[in-house]
Amino acid sequence: MSTVPEMFGCKVFDDKVMRARLSADVYRSLRQTINNGKKLELSVANAVADAMCEWAVENGATHFTHWFQPLTGITAEKHDSFITPAPDSHVIMEFSGKNLITGEPDASSFPSGGLRSTFEARGYTAWDPTSYAFIKEKVLCIPTAFCSYGGEALDKKTPLLRSMEALSRQAMRILRLFGNTEVKRVVTNVGPEQEYFLIDRDMYLKRKDLIYTGRTLFGARPPKGQELDDHYFGAIKPRVMAFMEELNEELWKLGIYAKTQHNEVAPAQHELAPIFTTSNIASDHNQLTMEIMKKVARRHNLMCLLHEKPFAGVNGSGKHNNWSIATNTGVNLLSPGETPHENAQFLLFLVAVVKAVDEYQDLLRLSVATAGNDHRLGASEAPPAIVSMFLGDELTAILDAIESDTPYAGTEKKRIRLGADVLPRFNRDTTDRNRTSPFAFTGNKFEFRMVGSSDSISCANIMINSAVAEALRVFADDLEAAEDFDARLHDLIKENITAHRRIIFNGNGYDDSWTKEATEVRGLSNLPTTPDALVRVLDPANIEMLVRHKVFSEVEIRSRYETKMENYVRTVRIEALTMVDMARRQILPAVSKYCADLSAGKLAKTAADPGLACSYETRLIRKLSLLVDGIDAAADTLEACVAAHEGEDNTVQAFHIRDEVLQRMAELRALCDEAETVTAADCWPFPTYGELLFGV
Ligand code: ADP
Ligand code: MG
Repeated sequence: MSTVPEMFGCKVFDDKVMRARLSADVYRSLRQTINNGKKLELSVANAVADAMCEWAVENGATHFTHWFQPLTGITAEKHDSFITPAPDSHVIMEFSGKNLITGEPDASSFPSGGLRSTFEARGYTAWDPTSYAFIKEKVLCIPTAFCSYGGEALDKKTPLLRSMEALSRQAMRILRLFGNTEVKRVVTNVGPEQEYFLIDRDMYLKRKDLIYTGRTLFGARPPKGQELDDHYFGAIKPRVMAFMEELNEELWKLGIYAKTQHNEVAPAQHELAPIFTTSNIASDHNQLTMEIMKKVARRHNLMCLLHEKPFAGVNGSGKHNNWSIATNTGVNLLSPGETPHENAQFLLFLVAVVKAVDEYQDLLRLSVATAGNDHRLGASEAPPAIVSMFLGDELTAILDAIESDTPYAGTEKKRIRLGADVLPRFNRDTTDRNRTSPFAFTGNKFEFRMVGSSDSISCANIMINSAVAEALRVFADDLEAAEDFDARLHDLIKENITAHRRIIFNGNGYDDSWTKEATEVRGLSNLPTTPDALVRVLDPANIEMLVRHKVFSEVEIRSRYETKMENYVRTVRIEALTMVDMARRQILPAVSKYCADLSAGKLAKTAADPGLACSYETRLIRKLSLLVDGIDAAADTLEACVAAHEGEDNTVQAFHIRDEVLQRMAELRALCDEAETVTAADCWPFPTYGELLFGV
């Protein structure tokens, strides 16, 4: 078997392959397109397509596809084979530049949030040359953007690329002000840590809730959960290890830097972290990672659960989005530098992020809003639904000293003069200890911890990039007009610390008192559910900002709003109907049958000895009968509740779900879970929490 370096990227049409297979002219031209966005000539595209086809066929591919990320959240592909008829009933394998650059999949079956009624059903895919083509199975996958006939983005990649562009544009203005003339572009980097559960596939197949909704809708707490903390970083079981090894190999072949793997806090929960890369590529890679995790799991007769909350009462799964900004020359702009000049620049970028997070809290919150993630955020194991930032004691003390013009202990008790003093190097280890913060500074990057495990990381990064671009724009406007740059810089940083310090919170985000302080004292927004959060995108200030930076048009924002609300409604509706089905067709018959068994047993006993009290059976039958009646009624109530606003506007339905349906679901579940605890184990119709969580 080949070594890891040999295997790494062997299925990717990457720079190495391009260099080897393209003529010098074609290669140079393509590089210009990749690096600087230069328009691709058709002659170049044809040459690239030829080389790609030849390489792909040599590596076993028979088909190609434009691989894109519609608003469903997963990736889409439609395969076309390379075969072209040739004389004498032969075929040749062929692929043209036109096929490489654009495709025209029928857009009518993808969500468009109303865009389709105003535009043609046809959609267009366009090659994104900044993300390398790769071979998956026998298919050459070409990463593409997906838009409507009218040019509206119908995918998650297009706005992400636009937001990266917006941030680069504004950050470049700042760098120029600091006298930097070399940097050509600023990029955002992301390293998404992915959490997931692995359970046995045979057990999975016995649970309709897992099959239809990805999470358990019923299940009493097992006697043992995660309370002993014996799983986190624990030894990895052989079956899981075999899965991880195969997963790593598959990812490496696709050029994905799978780096770290370990057990997580909950039983059966694990994590995989790649090495960070450009946001756009990190997002493509994360989509692929999720897909391959599921595929590889099946080969081990396991199921990979990516749902944010597969099990109640046990930690859910998230995706820690480690984010930073860097120049094309490789300098991390969120890393404190060695010189006073670099430190001042670092502080300006840092304060820009603080301002961005404070002013656009709502956008960050709604960027991660899904029905699944609602069960996780604020469940005292994940960051709360309130956005705040952790900077660590040292950095906070420095900002305090700047704000109040008082001496800072770390600088030999001197006042900090920006642009003149070197900041102390803060200890990275001390900045990374707060695990409860939604947005934590971890030495040279920020970790946004609210993203859900099954979600695309695009939305979160679109909003972070846009909000930071806006803060940098305001700063650049201000500083470009300043007469004395250094003086204005100092004041600008100071003013912004004062204006936005309410968003900085270094305490425990899981504490109940924090919710009170955040909302009542600091005026931060608390948006516990998806509908609460989503409506905020329609706030005129939010629309104005996103449109200003050309990340979305207003039409695109409204269409995405509809799509996300609709997704919320449909997701919960499926869950509710699955509950009704399982309650009526599995739980009620099972409990009822157990009651019948108990009565038969009781009858047999009293027939033998009429004097027996049979108080155990009598009590239990009574208890179970009451539960059965309760479950029956609760299922009816839930069913009626789900039907109540059917067909109405998505927003109306979403709020009805928030206010009514979720309550009715919880009531039905509570009764069923109670019934589980008093029903004989071998009568229960599907695997229990204990079996699922400890069954691998
Ligand atoms: P942990 O958060 O578990 O302590 P690390 O901080 O080492 O682990 O890294 C977590 C993730 O952050 C990894 O995916 C890593 O590649 C990524 N990361 C590290 N540095 C940066 C950076 N400058 N920008 C973006 N992501 C980064
Ligand atoms: Mg981390």
